[in-house]
Amino acid sequence: MALAVIIPVYNEEKGIERHIAEIDRILTADGIGHTFMLVDDGSRDNSWAALRRLSQSMDNVRAIRFARNFGKEVAICAGLDAIDEDLYLVMDSDLQHPPRCIKGMMALMERTGADIVDGVKESRGTETAKTKLLAKGFYKVLAMFTGLELDNSSDFKLMRRKVIDAIRVMPERNRFFRSLVDYVGFERVPFGFATDDRDDGTSRFSTKKLLILAFNAILSNTNKPLYLPLVLAGLSGLGAFASLLFIILRACLALTVTGTQWLMLSLFVCTALILLSVGITGAYLARMYDEVKGRPLYLISERL
Ligand code: UDP
Ligand code: MG
Repeated sequence: MALAVIIPVYNEEKGIERHIAEIDRILTADGIGHTFMLVDDGSRDNSWAALRRLSQSMDNVRAIRFARNFGKEVAICAGLDAIDEDLYLVMDSDLQHPPRCIKGMMALMERTGADIVDGVKESRGTETAKTKLLAKGFYKVLAMFTGLELDNSSDFKLMRRKVIDAIRVMPERNRFFRSLVDYVGFERVPFGFATDDRDDGTSRFSTKKLLILAFNAILSNTNKPLYLPLVLAGLSGLGAFASLLFIILRACLALTVTGTQWLMLSLFVCTALILLSVGITGAYLARMYDEVKGRPLYLISERL
């Protein structure tokens, strides 16, 4: 079965030719027929010239170039859209997803009959403490809001054609590739790999870019924050109830109820009502968000 190797490329002029040659060498040695689909995500350096040279010197290299930097998530989707094969492999261009693992991933797919072989980071290489901390925090928040356990997950994935077809019919604009793969389902097996170090040492993701990605991943996978006002309305309602009890108690004991105490009660009541209204709007908005995302009602895995 032929393998499409999808690789997003952003400002990789220094290493890309060497890296693609290395992946090509290993796949060829392992007897895996393959075509590269390289997506230049609007690089500002000479990556495109390097991709052009690659496509001239190798006949299994295809490439597309974005008009500007649209982000890795979109680049992966564009790569998947641009080529038709039976098997798809997504990997980074910096050899941090070790090409020597591909043979094992293919064998695991064959052996288990799985539709997705999911690269899971067993070690994260020499990432900076800041990146590790940010990643950990992000996956915690993501799991809390969305229930998605993507800890140590990666974009290094081998997928059958039907998985790609399912991803292709997801019409949403805000995309987080890993959660899309999680959402579509199918048979999945994990494949542990140790991340190699990047040879030039610097990630193409700035902290700002990572934060935007994290925010996007959370917002596009859950409506829960929209229900927050309802929770707060409940808390405010409890406050109102407690104030009311307090006032009744004082009245029963023939103690004076001060203006401030009345004010507290009315403040809690008003706040609860306002939050309730906002929360109701949020509940409708959450449904509208689901509707506009327009994800398919169901996805079929097999037919008899
Ligand atoms: N990348 C991309 N667009 C971007 C940032 C990165 O296509 O805006 C590509 C990059 O060229 C590489 C992959 O995404 O092939 C992973 O990037 P990087 O290695 O810098 O990220 P990290 O390893 O730190 O997650
Ligand atoms: Mg990397």
